[in-house]
Amino acid sequence: MAPESTGGSSMLKSLRGVVQEVSTARDLPETLAIIVRRVREEMETQVCSVYLVDPASGRYVFMATEGLNKALEGRFSLARDEGLVGYVARREEPLNLEDASAHPKFKFIEGSGEELFRSFLGVPIIHHREVLGVLVVQQRDRRRFDEDEEAFLVTMSAQLAAIIAHAGLAGSYSELRRGTRPKSGEFIGIAGAPGIGIGQVVIVSPPSDLKAVPQRACEDAEQEIALFHAAVARVQDEIAVTRQELTGRVGAEELALFDAHAMLLADRALSGEVVTRIREGNWAQGALSQVVLEHVRTFEIMEDAYIRERGADIRDLGRRVLAELQASVRETTTYPARCILIGEEIPASALANVPRSSLAGIVSVSGSGNSHVAILARAMGVPTVMGAVDLPFTALEREEVVVDGHQGRVLVSPAPEAMAQFREMAAAEQLAEEQIAANAHLPAVMQDGHAVSLLVNTGLNSEWVRSLGRGAEGVGLFRTEIPFLIRERFPTEEEQRLIYRAQLEAFAPRPVTMRTLDIGGDKALPYFPIEEENPFLGWRGIRVTLDHPEIYLAQVRAMLKASAGLGNLRVMLPMISNVSEFDEARALLVRAYSEVLEEGWAVRMPQVGVMIEVPAAVYQAGVLARRADFLSVGTNDLTQYLLAVDRNNARVANLYHAFHPAVLHALMDVVDAAHRAGKPASVCGELAGDPGAALLLVGMGYDSLSMSAPNLARVKSVLRRFTRAQAAELVRKVSRLDDARDVRAAIEDRLRQEGVVLRAGG
Ligand code: PEP
Ligand code: MG
Repeated sequence: MAPESTGGSSMLKSLRGVVQEVSTARDLPETLAIIVRRVREEMETQVCSVYLVDPASGRYVFMATEGLNKALEGRFSLARDEGLVGYVARREEPLNLEDASAHPKFKFIEGSGEELFRSFLGVPIIHHREVLGVLVVQQRDRRRFDEDEEAFLVTMSAQLAAIIAHAGLAGSYSELRRGTRPKSGEFIGIAGAPGIGIGQVVIVSPPSDLKAVPQRACEDAEQEIALFHAAVARVQDEIAVTRQELTGRVGAEELALFDAHAMLLADRALSGEVVTRIREGNWAQGALSQVVLEHVRTFEIMEDAYIRERGADIRDLGRRVLAELQASVRETTTYPARCILIGEEIPASALANVPRSSLAGIVSVSGSGNSHVAILARAMGVPTVMGAVDLPFTALEREEVVVDGHQGRVLVSPAPEAMAQFREMAAAEQLAEEQIAANAHLPAVMQDGHAVSLLVNTGLNSEWVRSLGRGAEGVGLFRTEIPFLIRERFPTEEEQRLIYRAQLEAFAPRPVTMRTLDIGGDKALPYFPIEEENPFLGWRGIRVTLDHPEIYLAQVRAMLKASAGLGNLRVMLPMISNVSEFDEARALLVRAYSEVLEEGWAVRMPQVGVMIEVPAAVYQAGVLARRADFLSVGTNDLTQYLLAVDRNNARVANLYHAFHPAVLHALMDVVDAAHRAGKPASVCGELAGDPGAALLLVGMGYDSLSMSAPNLARVKSVLRRFTRAQAAELVRKVSRLDDARDVRAAIEDRLRQEGVVLRAGG
């Protein structure tokens, strides 16, 4: 590459150009072929090659080249630390040599043609801390690649790593070279909900989303082609109608845009390509999405801004045709007997649609272990993997997969022996669950007679019934947003009253703590979108409801009316970061209460509590406790805000530790502040459902713990083995530790000493 052309915006442009072109590839061999061709061109060098690690053997396979002997592609490999490539892989650093053969690690590969090239620059391809391979450029002259060139290749490799990881289904690369895409592989994500789930994939795709369309074999090509043509015709009609309506009202230039769109749709080349893909075996929606996305990418790499814009037009038209196709086949999805839901995101409504008995597992490409879907999944006891970012999920429709919710991995069509093992594990788990559940009726009384109040977190109907069976003493957190999330509009006051009444009645006389609507963050209502750069620091929870008193008032009125004659309602306010928010919310509640009384309902003023979820509330816990009737710590949010780790972001999931000393000290301060004010304190975040953490929280003095129903029996069985003094001793011990991992290890040790069997993956 000419040095002057590497500087500033031209370097950025060529980087973008390569990355965009690479992302048009359909599979790994094509991805690699584009990389070697384009990088060689951009760097104006003679050789570019890619080596990738074969997960089966751990060796770096010579996968693609431009400039060396292509016949050797896929035919030789190097061990880690073998040859210059292995050396780059081991050191995880670039290697830039003016004379490769002079390096002690140099290994000559017979027949490669390498003897013609003197200089060598190799950079590791690293994705999620793992070396996937090595990208190499070589040239004839004995000359070190300059700094700009090295920086260019490093940047390129960092950008390509994710694309390569995505394109390469893990598995044997030699299979890939033969062009047979392996139908098996292991994909790493994050543990979302424990358990092993085995079943067939059903893809959850939001409407009109070209990227989420499942690739599915078509049964009747002619019928699919007819559907496609009909969908195109409907979009053409719509365009013609709109054009007609606007004629005379807008200028000729705007009208010409409609003509351009109509022409794009009429373009035989575009629809011809879709038809060819259908004849090759893809269904209409899959063929359309492939063709449109390829065209969009081609347009996006054009220099000319006007032409790039046409890419956006094609995408828009593609979406409209897709929407028509989807509307024409709105068949009700039939769920296999054991179904694994997979999608970029899994909305709560998708969970609600699958019959509970069929839902065997969930995989979400985005999100993390403390995303709300994961919490729901845990509550439902459905094995779940989150953040499976490299899973090529659109290609997996109806494939058999295993969801390992302990270790956070998805296995696509594993070998029969592995499958048999997973089936055994699933059966053993089921048995262990049943044994623990058999003791669910025993009280949560510790060895010294101290009784701990164990409550349940609810939101989905099915949970109440199960939790009652498992000995919950009430509800510590009813996430009221869930009934809101699975609707197409805000539920009316009366609809809400009925939902709340059912829950209050089911538990009466035991308390039910209803949290007021907590939307925002990763919980968006489809009919009330909140689009923000930083949703977890934005318009969330109490901030939204105080800005919309009509929504808040309808909700608390519904809660109050639902409690008539029962008197077991408690109200809890989420995301409080200022005392004024509590004061305002309570004042509105008092107003609603007097109105409901005036209307003749026999209601009592409920207790009102504050959730401690943000650091500000930890520091003001005393003040808040004096105003409120109780405090409840939401450790899911408190952890993310104290540690500055987005609970929904898979990339930083390894930093999200609820056992972090900062979180533990905050928890100790909150319970002390509550007790000094003479008020009870509870924990209702996921931490409370971890048996070891539950012991610790009791040791700190928490009065009650609220958790997902499946955790009740396990937590109870652990608490019953200890005295409160032993729990307090454990708190003293871990409060001296500096690191979350040490805290976890100390707790686990203590549990083992008492004979507690720990589950795989915690
Ligand atoms: C929490 O933040 O700990 C909590 C219980 O609320 P949610 O998980 O619904 O945000
Ligand atoms: Mg919260």
